[in-house]
Amino acid sequence: MTDTLFPAPDWPRIAVQDAQGSFPVRRVFCVGRNYAAHAAEMGNEVDRAAPFYFTKSALAVLPSGRSVPYPPGTSDYHHEMEFVVALGGAAFRVTPDRAMDAVLGYACGLDMTRRDLQARAKDKRHPWDLAKDAENSAVIGPITRKDRFGAIADQSIRLTVDGELRQQGKLSDMVWSVPDLIADLSRYYHLQPGDLIFTGTPSGVGAVDPGAVLRGEIDGLAPVELTLGPPEAS
Ligand code: MN
Repeated sequence: MTDTLFPAPDWPRIAVQDAQGSFPVRRVFCVGRNYAAHAAEMGNEVDRAAPFYFTKSALAVLPSGRSVPYPPGTSDYHHEMEFVVALGGAAFRVTPDRAMDAVLGYACGLDMTRRDLQARAKDKRHPWDLAKDAENSAVIGPITRKDRFGAIADQSIRLTVDGELRQQGKLSDMVWSVPDLIADLSRYYHLQPGDLIFTGTPSGVGAVDPGAVLRGEIDGLAPVELTLGPPEAS
């Protein structure tokens, strides 16, 4: 066995309710524009021909309940409350009717976004990485097992900031269903245990200031919480 030149990263793990072990994160896939009302508020239409994706580094994952500094390089940091699918099995070129076999469970997640950098990237037809792959930007609550949660139906999804309701929708508002998303992604990737899929956000996204306390909830799941501290001193 060879030693590493410096310490290997401490790979993110997520708590799983009623389980002995935790969930080691492999990859983070995110779906864009999966709720029509959110696409409209961003001035876009939903592309009903195919979903589209972006990714975040697994090392951008932040477990729920932490306080982190307001991130560098933005003055318009936005919340996006999302239903997250956690894979516990492999999927490659699966059909939607087999796709759910790969699902371990679900969690509440926050796809935190530097909206000002995203707008600039869109204008210049540049990639979204600086906007979306911010450090600590994939916040995720404990995973609830698929069987415990039951069918994905019209569960409420909502987010409060400092106790004030900002986002509200239903999982049934998703344009692309979870089986459709897994089947589609599996045309491009060998999906593996540890992969996460952030399935898009309902309308009501907006900026949060240093000091904000965010709390996201979905019926039947443990909540996700984030506290933003002041920016780091330069
Ligand atoms: Mn999102």
